[in-house]
Amino acid sequence: MNKTLQLVRLAKEIELCAICKNEKIGIAVPGEGNPDADIIFVGEAPGKKEAVEGRPFIGRSGLLLRSLIRSIGLTEEEVFITSPVKYLPKRGTPTSSDIAHGRIHLMKQLAVIQPKVVMLLGRVAAEGVLEKKVAVVTEHGSIIAEKEGIKYFLTVHPAAALRFSKKYKPLLEEDFQKLKQLLAH
Ligand code: URA
Repeated sequence: MNKTLQLVRLAKEIELCAICKNEKIGIAVPGEGNPDADIIFVGEAPGKKEAVEGRPFIGRSGLLLRSLIRSIGLTEEEVFITSPVKYLPKRGTPTSSDIAHGRIHLMKQLAVIQPKVVMLLGRVAAEGVLEKKVAVVTEHGSIIAEKEGIKYFLTVHPAAALRFSKKYKPLLEEDFQKLKQLLAH
């Protein structure tokens, strides 16, 4: 079965998943992009706009993420963008059981795409993918794990860079430059 079809099937599985929908709002946001992407960007959970349209990172954080992607010479069509949690949590922030459950679907997506690099956008992404708690402020800008040929690079979530722009926006921009170097090698 080709990768596109496998990802479409996984998106259907997510849409039908009763556990994913528990205590959530809106429609599923499985993720979007290139099934053969070398890089996957992993966020946290959909926001309000995403939960209405079913597409990841299309609100304010998404504008920033997408412009940073373009700033390092990539196009949105060549990457894949998703989150560990596929629905908007009622209370906004995902619980640890939301993250643990979302991981099941996310791992299946990663197994299909088989990227070279996974860009972890913040704490929830790191927990969702690697099942470990990370200190984003001290560990960002580096590869925090390497498994089966995939490098896991950590940075801050774009929402944090919008909220505390003096502190985190330059840091996020620098990490994207580091990512560019990483992808060039
Ligand atoms: N934040 C995320 O982590 N994911 C989205 O899709 C939107 C905002």
